[in-house]
Amino acid sequence: MNTSALSHLRILVSGAGVAGPALAYWLGVHGARTTVVELAPALRESGFTVDFRGPTHFSVLERMGVLDELRAVRTGGGAKIVVDEHDRERYRLPAEFCGGDLEVHRGDLSRVLYERSTDTTEYLFGETITALHQDSAGVRVEFESAPARTFDLVIGADGIHSGVRRLVFGQETNFVHHLGYYLAGWDLPNDEGFDTISRMYNTPGRLASVAADHRDAKRAGTMFAFTAPALSYGLRDIERQKSFVRTAFAGMRWHVPDLLATLEDAPELYFDSISKVTVPYLTEGRVALLGDSAWGVTLGGMGVGTGIVGGYVLAGELAAARGDHRTAFSAYERRMWRFAGRWQRAASPGRFLAPASASGLWLRDTLFRHSLMQRMLVSGSGSLAKDDGLPDYPAA
Ligand SMILES: Cc1cc2nc3c(=O)[nH]c(=O)nc-3n(C[C@H](O)[C@H](O)[C@H](O)COP(=O)(O)OP(=O)(O)OC[C@H]3O[C@@H](n4cnc5c(N)ncnc54)[C@H](O)[C@@H]3O)c2cc1C
Repeated sequence: MNTSALSHLRILVSGAGVAGPALAYWLGVHGARTTVVELAPALRESGFTVDFRGPTHFSVLERMGVLDELRAVRTGGGAKIVVDEHDRERYRLPAEFCGGDLEVHRGDLSRVLYERSTDTTEYLFGETITALHQDSAGVRVEFESAPARTFDLVIGADGIHSGVRRLVFGQETNFVHHLGYYLAGWDLPNDEGFDTISRMYNTPGRLASVAADHRDAKRAGTMFAFTAPALSYGLRDIERQKSFVRTAFAGMRWHVPDLLATLEDAPELYFDSISKVTVPYLTEGRVALLGDSAWGVTLGGMGVGTGIVGGYVLAGELAAARGDHRTAFSAYERRMWRFAGRWQRAASPGRFLAPASASGLWLRDTLFRHSLMQRMLVSGSGSLAKDDGLPDYPAA
């Protein structure tokens, strides 16, 4: 008989991004029967580079046994060169500032976490939750195509535009606050011979950047950011999203016309508003939010690390309480409010990437070209990721 702390629990996780697979892994360690539903038909391997900072992120990656695997796929990069319209270097942002202590491609991270969790997790791709009904005995869940099932707990790890949050907590506009910027990224053939060190070119309210993919020098990736009020579009309407990018960057010089020309054939586009999620509470009955659905800031710098720490804490508190979700959820809320709240308050990616006015751009460049200021910012971000006393949650 399986006597692990959570062997009596069936847990449904929505979202196979970063936080979802990390949580699934830890639930497996503690013996739960876990199912993950993911809207995309397969693991989403796109996205820019993401990074880990500070001792707490590393201690959880180490406990998961994925640190060496992630080090093996590290980009080794992270430095960025700010250029003028003739592609001449103006100044450099050092790797530790942009790439943290360990930088990897988001797709590599998602794959490593997914593979680490598959032994103990049922994954359903191309599936989503359409309704949730909870009572004292469990949560009855209806899916888009799979038959309805009952679970003990449901966790929404389905990103900034979380479906679980909408179904249980209320409509997205109550919780997701547009910060005035949009972000787009896509892959392209590296016909121009771009280097792996990213080059960034700005005009007020616009950033265009490009770098070679360190895994395959024949490919490159872009990251564009621009100011805009909230736009209306379908999350799956890629053509409309591409047209927003073309309009926002029309007339911009440097490599922009050539980069925009590659949008046509880009198979996948990452496009999202830069937004901040604020929820008044992380749990509601038998349902909890985790990762970007709970405390996300698009490109907030520490979203991946915080999502992984959150998965560790949520599974660990459930195990420590032998599956009593009331006790576990309140301990999870207390710890994660403190940890996630600290970096979320400091995150302001749009204003750094693409200051809206000429004077704002001048101020950013004046501040960031000084190495003293860069060092201060690096040490500040490491301390935001500290948590004095992340508990051990031994597997029973
Ligand atoms: C494609 C993609 C690219 C990204 N690129 C970057 C990047 O370059 N840099 C960066 O800092 N951050 C990026 N992010 C965000 C970053 O990955 C998150 O901050 C971090 O991973 C937190 O993890 P998460 O698991 O909470 O959310 P996410 O990583 O966003 O994962 C959420 C998952 O839930 C799935 N999902 C969404 N809605 C539903 C639904 N209704 N039902 C089932 N599944 C659903 C999504 O497809 C996704 O796989 C990206 C996110 C995505 C999805």
